[in-house]
Parts: sequence; C-alpha cells; structure tokens
Amino acid sequence: MSNTRCRIAPSPSGFLHIGTAKTALYNWLFAKKTGGVFILRLEDTDAERTDEQYVHGMCEGFRWLGIEWDEGPEFGGVPEKGAYGPYRQSQRRELYRAEALRLLDEGKAYKCFCTKEEIDAFRKDRPHDRFMSPWRDAAPSKVAAMGDAPSAVRFKVPEGETVLHDVIQGEVRWNNREYDDFVILKPNGDPIFHLAVVVDDAHMKITHVIRGDDHLTNAARHVMLFEALGFPLPQYAHHPLVHDEQGRKLSKRMHGANVLDWRDDGYLPEAIINYIALLGWTSEEENREFFTLDELKDHFTLERLTKSAARFDRKKLDWLNGQHIRRLSVEDFRDRILPILEAQGFDVRARTPEWLTRVAEICQGKIPTLNQIVQQTDFFFRPVTPYEEAGVKKHFHMDGRLCLEAVLGVFASTDDWTSKTLHDAVQALADRMGTGLRKLVHPIRLALTGKTVGPGLFELAELLGKKTCLERIEDALAYIAALDEL
Ligand code: GLU
Repeated sequence: MSNTRCRIAPSPSGFLHIGTAKTALYNWLFAKKTGGVFILRLEDTDAERTDEQYVHGMCEGFRWLGIEWDEGPEFGGVPEKGAYGPYRQSQRRELYRAEALRLLDEGKAYKCFCTKEEIDAFRKDRPHDRFMSPWRDAAPSKVAAMGDAPSAVRFKVPEGETVLHDVIQGEVRWNNREYDDFVILKPNGDPIFHLAVVVDDAHMKITHVIRGDDHLTNAARHVMLFEALGFPLPQYAHHPLVHDEQGRKLSKRMHGANVLDWRDDGYLPEAIINYIALLGWTSEEENREFFTLDELKDHFTLERLTKSAARFDRKKLDWLNGQHIRRLSVEDFRDRILPILEAQGFDVRARTPEWLTRVAEICQGKIPTLNQIVQQTDFFFRPVTPYEEAGVKKHFHMDGRLCLEAVLGVFASTDDWTSKTLHDAVQALADRMGTGLRKLVHPIRLALTGKTVGPGLFELAELLGKKTCLERIEDALAYIAALDEL
C-alpha cells in the first residue's frame, strides 16, 4: 500500500450535493489508483447546522454511489474504521485546543480580548482596512492582568507572502497583508474551521487535498497554519465548481443537486459516477466519455483535472445512463427494475424468473432511465384501456379493423406461440393482403399495449401469451365497432 491518504470532509448540513460527490470521487479515485487510503471525516463542529438526518443522507449518498471509505466514522451499524479517529470533528475538540495552545506558547498566536462591539465598530469605521488587534503585541503583564476574561485566540499572520503550488491552479501567491490575524479558537473554546481542517489534515497524515476552488482563498490561511505548526504541507488540488446548464453556480435547491434525486429518477450509480468524473476531468483518449468505475480507477490522474468550470449537461447524462443500462447483464438489469415495477403495484411475484428475464431483455435496449420501465411494460400487468388517443385516430379506423380481424384469425390458428412464428404468420398475412408488415403492426400494437411505441411487437406478444392476445384483439375490435356506431 502506498502512503497516499485522501479525504472528503463534508459539513453534514444538507444532503449529498453533486459537487461534494464529485470532490469525493476524485479523492477516492486518486487514492485507489495509487493504492492509498480514502477517508471520510465529518466536519460537524457547527452543532446548530448539523443534523443526524443529514449525516445519514450524506453517507447513504456515498454508499449508493459505491464510494466506500477505508477510514471514517460509525455509520449504519458499521463501527468507526481507521487508526486516526475519531472521524467527527465534534469529537476532536481537545486536539484543536492543544494545537492552538501550542501556537500560543510559541508566540505564533495570541489571546485577543477585544469584544465583538469593538471589532464591529472598527469594521464600520474602516471597512477597507484589515483588523489589527491591539493585543497582537501586548505586554505579557497586560495579558496576565486580564485573568480569565473571555478571549479568542488569534493567529499571528506573518509578514511576507504565502505561496501554494496547486496541481490544478498552478502557482498561487498571496500577499499576507490581505489577511487579518484570524481567530482560530473562539472564546468558548470551539475551533474555527481553518484550525480544525489543518489540524485534522496534519494529524490524519493527509497527503493530497483535492477540493472545490471555493476553498482556494482559505488555502492561504491553511498554508500559513501548516507552516506555523510545523507539519508537512499536503499536495493541494483545487478544482472548479459545477455550473448549471445556464452557467450559474449549481443551486442547492435544484432538483438533482442531491445525488439521491438521480437514484429516485431511475439513474444508475455507475452512470452518475461516470458523469461526475467528466465534470472536471478528461481522459487522455480524445473524446472518450464512457467509463466504468474500474476503467476510471485505471485512467484517473490529477494532471488531467480541468481548470474551467463544467456545465451540467443533462443530455450527456441521459446518454451515459442509457449506455450503462445496456452494459448490465440481463439478470442484473432485471433485478434493478423489479423493485420499480413492484412499487407500481404490479404483481411481479406471480411471474416466473424466466418470464421476467425475457421482459427485461426486450426492454433493456430501449430505455434511458430505469423508471421508464413502467411505461414500457405496464400493459403486461394491467388492462390496456384507455388506448392512446393519437393512436386511435391513426390506427383504429376501417382499415385497422379489417387488419385486426385478419390478424385475429391468424393468431387463433397459431399454436407454436413464439415471436418468430408470430412474425412469419403476420408477414405471410401481409403478403396475402398485398400490404406492408407495418400496416398490420401498428393496430396490433395498439390493441395489445394501448400504445404506439414500446418493445418489439412479436416478442411482447409471445410474452403476453395467446389467450391475452386474442382477448385484447377482440376487445379492440369491439372498441372500434362502438366508435363506428357513434
Ligand atoms: N467542510 C468543507 C466543505 O464542506 C471542506 C473543507 C476541505 O475540504 O478542506 O466544504
């Protein structure tokens, strides 16, 4: 095993956002590719914004995608894993305190007794200046005289420049004058995000921090803290955020911002993984877009992460989903659609596994999302009326009636009830009638399924069985007759 250690550090204040899933995926792929370890750490210090329900939603999202963590907190009955725990920041407060006190001892941080009112007044008077605490260079006697008065711990931002060599952004430089002496420990002893994230990354021996570029400005503070604490700096890679189809930041409220929305809409986790991989990474094989998880693990490199923001492209996602559906074994596909059919109240348990597999087989190449299996197969499980209106207008007229009468006779005398025999019999009928096969196919399809499109007609007729087919054609004839009488 290599020493690569990557992490995803979400704040569980919502569901698993597609952007967080993307960040997790890149870390996970990089860890797997290099034989390293992927860690889940919950940044749950903000008790008010943390809700166990969100922790659950987030972890469930990772599980559904198949992004398993090698180290991380207890979840769903699986105990905490890993030697660098605990993996929830809320349980690591003492560690942050200890490191903040060390910085205090070493003169790299100081106690600031300024009240909120004083700071607010400063900011109001001098909105463009950085806040300089009068306690930065206060005499030790003056500090001692304050005793236990409430104080924050502020980091003493050093003079000079901070430089980061980011894998994606290249060299980034900041003039430290742009930064206040930022608080690292609040008066109540709680750490500020910047301290917690650095202490955790350092103590958990994180080697690579791949995260959204909304954290790039924070990175300056993180580099300063790493240097002050004397820990080796991880390799940073700040990747761009995902934009919506209009080029705006992907809103949390948008349907689909939650990874599990896609599950509910009938998308495969394999397709979502493939799609989000492409939202900021390109293969060295030009124009290649389809990847399985194993292929991504083989091909993924940090060097091919892109610098520009990707736009969400629903068409591409749908295409990929269709491709991943086609790639499943028919049994796997069948097992994924059965719960969807059951949820519709269709009695799939009354059918044999062989029959269900055949149904799966004739639909697998047709649907872009799993949920569309319902409209492709509902006629197997429930009556076909009402017929599709446009179909009735087009196919249930005088000609259609004559066709269906002829087909009824042919079907009634067919005993070898297979798609091939049915096809040949209807073809022979078309030849006798001096018409094309399609002319017959349309009214038969409408009679058997109530629809104008669907799986292959002779295949579905075979699966419906002779009795049902004859009944449905008779029903359609009665329906047309009633129409004619109107
Ligand atoms: N908790 C931060 C977030 O959810 C992540 C911080 C980091 O990756 O360094 O955006």
